[in-house]
Amino acid sequence: MNIILLGPPGAGKGTQARMLTEKRGLVQLSTGDMLRAAVAAGTPVGKAADAVMKSGGLVGDDIVIGVISERLDQPDVKQGVIFDGFPRTLAQADALEKLLADKGISLDHVVEMSVDDEVVTARIAGRYTCAKCGEGYHDESKQPNVPGVCDKCGGTEFKRRADDNAHAVRTRLMAYYRETSPLIGYYYAKGRLASVDGLADIDEVERQISAVLG
Ligand code: ADP
Ligand code: ADP
Ligand code: ZN
Repeated sequence: MNIILLGPPGAGKGTQARMLTEKRGLVQLSTGDMLRAAVAAGTPVGKAADAVMKSGGLVGDDIVIGVISERLDQPDVKQGVIFDGFPRTLAQADALEKLLADKGISLDHVVEMSVDDEVVTARIAGRYTCAKCGEGYHDESKQPNVPGVCDKCGGTEFKRRADDNAHAVRTRLMAYYRETSPLIGYYYAKGRLASVDGLADIDEVERQISAVLG
């Protein structure tokens, strides 16, 4: 099964994608994670993406489509994938249709996580992750069971993203409304869209997504 999780920054896409990875063996394809890895490695893609990511703008379609196209040639995608943070523009959505057709991959569900602006802003402000395994946490809604120790891997170092600051978050929300939100209508018109209540707690969102996936 191959699915897209659609929603603004902070909607909970990464959180749910990791849970689906654990429960269903799907592979999480986060373009944000891939681009951050490219920036850290100093590759040409990373060099092209660094400044625009820091500002909260969208990286160019050609770059992102190239990254996803290469990733879809890896053998593990046969387990089924979750697109997390891709597509983010109509051009990316059209390119994805073509890539999937060329590579013989189906798209089974597009799940919109509906939230509101105040909540996503607060979620991003409190977001941090385990530096070792990437597990996501939040200052208010999801602290580790033992303070300072990752539930998943026992790691004791945590990090916050450079673009999770108030200015970049405003730019990211604007990019979402201008470029990404039309995808809700795009997938609705294709008869593929399902919506879940992204404001519910993490386990309830998971149940709603599970009900969609069947
Ligand atoms: P996205 O990948 O869509 O940007 P994340 O999965 O990183 O969003 O979630 C953003 C923040 O909100 C994280 O700190 C996460 O722990 C927290 N979070 C995710 N889902 C929920 C939820 N349903 N309720 C409360 N907090 C949540
Ligand atoms: P969030 O968790 O807030 O949804 P991501 O980790 O998905 O953010 O993305 C972080 C940044 O990486 C974005 O603000 C953007 O600069 C870049 N990026 C990620 N995916 C894409 C994409 N599909 N198209 C363009 N830029 C992207
Ligand atoms: Zn960890």
